[in-house]
Amino acid sequence: MNHLTTETFDANARAALTDLQLRGALRQATSLFGKRRLAAAQSLPDWEDLRTQARRIKDETLLHLDRYLEEFTANAEKAGARIHWARDAAEANEIVKRLARERAARLVVKSKSMTTEEIHLNAALEAEGIEALETDLGEYIIQLAGETPSHIIAPAIHKTRHQIAELFVEKLGIAPTDDIPTLTITARRVLREKFGAADIGISGVNFGVAETGTILILENEGNIRLTTSLPKTHIAVMGIEKVIPRFEDLEVFLKLLPRSGTGQHLTAYQSLITGARRSPQDEGPDELHIILLDNGRSRMLAHPTTRQSLACIRCGACLNACPVYQQIGGHAYGSVYPGPIGAVITPQLIGLSKAAKLPYASSLCGACREVCPVKIDIPELLLHLRAQITEEQETGDRKSERSKQRTAERLSFKLWAAIITRPRWYEFSGKLAHLLQRFVVRKNRIGSVGRFVSWIAPPLAAWTAARDLRPIEDKSFRQQWRERGSSPTAREEAAETRP
Ligand code: SF4
Repeated sequence: MNHLTTETFDANARAALTDLQLRGALRQATSLFGKRRLAAAQSLPDWEDLRTQARRIKDETLLHLDRYLEEFTANAEKAGARIHWARDAAEANEIVKRLARERAARLVVKSKSMTTEEIHLNAALEAEGIEALETDLGEYIIQLAGETPSHIIAPAIHKTRHQIAELFVEKLGIAPTDDIPTLTITARRVLREKFGAADIGISGVNFGVAETGTILILENEGNIRLTTSLPKTHIAVMGIEKVIPRFEDLEVFLKLLPRSGTGQHLTAYQSLITGARRSPQDEGPDELHIILLDNGRSRMLAHPTTRQSLACIRCGACLNACPVYQQIGGHAYGSVYPGPIGAVITPQLIGLSKAAKLPYASSLCGACREVCPVKIDIPELLLHLRAQITEEQETGDRKSERSKQRTAERLSFKLWAAIITRPRWYEFSGKLAHLLQRFVVRKNRIGSVGRFVSWIAPPLAAWTAARDLRPIEDKSFRQQWRERGSSPTAREEAAETRP
């Protein structure tokens, strides 16, 4: 079981960086997802328009969320669903447990749902003596391993085929094999028996349509179909931000989500569920309960900058594009939601003080913003949260410390401005720094090729506490420019490349 927390992010990340098997699995999976996403996006000439449209729909919904939630509730209830409101994780879990108790449920089958991960529903059910079985293959694998998901759409992305094979041999008692069809058939056999025996099926929700009270759930394995139709009771746990106004809006999101997530033009199954079955001849469960979960979302809604976090459609594209996630994977974040979107929503869900390190787990390169199908400006959100963290820290003793730091920063920038605007000073300072750096240049501690500055004396020590610097080269840029500029070959090369 992984017990990593948001508070130990630095140590988690350093440990993940030394796990070469993990990094290999991540490199392979994230680059494959990235290539597929790009090809799928390029297949639609109106891709950018769709992104703009999706964002407009989300903005409109979030601005009038109260109205759309009421409309969704009224229409879902009219269609036969029961709506429950949960302010937080504890209330949501209590509702599920009560429903399970009332039906004397012993076995629950679950489809992949980040929202139920967020509220730690499995642990709550287990404490109640109810078995909660994950039925998505990736989720099933990590449940067997006693782990948590490391990716929003590919929970077992960090595991290699051989690791999964070993797990199946150990936990399911099959003969040693790493043949993929044998492994999937084994999982299928175990899960099929459980679907038939389950008392309740629990799912998440991708979108809830206010106009009709319909919920849409996307998947590729068919396990959601079974989870939501075989047991007599279906419970869907839905974050309040999942509501969209109109049925026709789905067309936009159905084009964007699968392409952004897995590079598919459409997922293999799209389950549109409007209420429970209406007559004995109909298929499906007798009851549909939809739990509308807040759990900190209203707080995000209150501020125009943080509000955009709620536009997320959980496609996972920002994780695949993020250079930090690509190196350390999801577990290092110590939170249910990893990667760039996790670094943004986790501090808002569990509190800035507990997850203060996450908004800094980014190089602010903007790759997440580039790929996000709903154009969420994650770097802007990260900076907003960093500013809040700094403000929160500025109390009492810490405040006077910060004011000293600010004075030091101001002086440093004045000195820097004085140097950089005087060519002679600038050149001299470069030479001086080159001479002095010999006392601090060491081999890079993470094993990359080349020399790095891994320690600078205070007050600049904070910089190298988390990152390494390239040392100043023997010849400065200006020196090289002078030498190359005076060489006939360099002049000829420059002349050839001139238009
Ligand atoms: S922030 Fe954007 S890219 Fe990341 S998971 Fe959400 S919708 Fe996808």
